[in-house]
Amino acid sequence: MISVFDNKEDCCGCTACKSICQTQAISMEPDKEGFLYPEINQELCIDCSKCRKVCAFQNGYDIPGNLRQPKVYAAKHNNENIRSNSTSGGAFTAISDYVLDNNGVVFGAAFDENMNVIQQVASTAKERDKFRGSKYVQSDLKNVYKEISMLLKDDVQVLFTGTPCQTAGLYRFLEGHNIENLILCDLVCHGTPSPLMWREHIRHLEKKEKSKVDEYYCRHKVEGWHTHTEMVIYKNGKEDYKSIISQEHKTLFYSHNILRPSCHNCKYTNLMRPSDITIADFWGIEKYMPDFDDNKGISLILVNSAKCEQLLKEVSNNLTLKESNTEDCLQPQLKEPSQPSPDRAEFWEDYKTYGYDYIIRKYAGYNLRTVIKRNIIALKMAIIGEKKKNEHKINN
Ligand SMILES: Cc1cc2nc3c(=O)[nH]c(=O)nc-3n(C[C@H](O)[C@H](O)[C@H](O)COP(=O)(O)OP(=O)(O)OC[C@H]3O[C@@H](n4cnc5c(N)ncnc54)[C@H](O)[C@@H]3O)c2cc1C
Ligand code: SF4
Ligand code: SF4
Ligand code: SF4
Repeated sequence: MISVFDNKEDCCGCTACKSICQTQAISMEPDKEGFLYPEINQELCIDCSKCRKVCAFQNGYDIPGNLRQPKVYAAKHNNENIRSNSTSGGAFTAISDYVLDNNGVVFGAAFDENMNVIQQVASTAKERDKFRGSKYVQSDLKNVYKEISMLLKDDVQVLFTGTPCQTAGLYRFLEGHNIENLILCDLVCHGTPSPLMWREHIRHLEKKEKSKVDEYYCRHKVEGWHTHTEMVIYKNGKEDYKSIISQEHKTLFYSHNILRPSCHNCKYTNLMRPSDITIADFWGIEKYMPDFDDNKGISLILVNSAKCEQLLKEVSNNLTLKESNTEDCLQPQLKEPSQPSPDRAEFWEDYKTYGYDYIIRKYAGYNLRTVIKRNIIALKMAIIGEKKKNEHKINN
């Protein structure tokens, strides 16, 4: 009996195995934490092993032809309105505008009408604008890998944007296809939170406010780019970024209790990128280019392939670019995976036993006991991280 993975830490949920299975034996099913994992219907399985072989997360990834060291830039979109509506410096809009202007299509993550985060396709700027803004929850890829393979067969230019494990999975799934018209754009990734916890957060907000959530910004710039502020806008017109409840998802995100288990075993926290272009926040810019930082958002751009060098020339009218280097851009997520919280198992046990309102009070509340406990956990996580770094140094 074949299985696609042995441990949850080894599956990032990229859907490559499901997409490659010729007998449709694989479906993506949620586990108790709300993350999707491949499940095999053994009656349909013909034991061909294609699903195992296609897995980039377990078998490694390499994009032959990619530059061994990326070229590094700091960038701002020249349109202040676009920059203000983007998470970082607006690099995504500049790149996707180029593709749309060439009659191509763009894939990205957007909220659906129930605030679920779904990977979708856009062929107009209006549709693409829904992808703007980081959504701190794992997006549902649905069947986009197969859709993309069909579009490429029809010679359509495709820009796929997503987390590195999503671009790596897509690349492996498309092996053997003509991918000249494909541009892979990944993000630097801290980890993706549980869709179940996200739904609970939205439910919690709506119950307290007695109004549906209309818009949500996981990183709003109302208090500046350097401050992580979440903003919720309700159907009744109320905006909230000040209350404790409006920031509870952020608190759980950074607690590392709700990230996908594979995020703590991430293969993509380095400069060997599974994409043509990587976009991120240029954290640390205030140290290296203080004159460029205006607290309105600076993108980090890593140029990983010759295709992307050409692309950057094409989009440079819309961006102010400054060349940087592979040392100044090295934020933690380009060095090692996020450390799991020592409380992770207890957190999920508490959720199962007592429900969301309880875990929010215990793990994301702002009473003195919780704050002290959170600080102790942060200290423990820093010590574990430091220990791992020292072990790594000794082993090397
Ligand atoms: C879960 C997550 C974790 C991140 N962690 C880091 C980090 O640790 N360090 C860092 O420097 N940058 C991180 N980023 C990237 C950063 O937040 C910005 O998304 C990126 O810099 C692009 O900003 P922009 O201004 O160019 O574009 P924006 O206009 O803000 O575009 C956002 C882009 O992100 C994509 N996107 C949004 N949500 C998701 C999602 N859930 N899954 C897949 N794709 C999504 C959209 O499709 C679009 O391409 C993370 C993003 C996400 C979604
Ligand atoms: S990482 Fe992707 S290809 Fe590998 S088992 Fe998980 S869903 Fe399948
Ligand atoms: S072994 Fe082949 S048929 Fe069976 S689930 Fe994997 S890909 Fe599908
Ligand atoms: S941290 Fe790694 S495994 Fe987790 S979503 Fe990001 S790229 Fe995927």
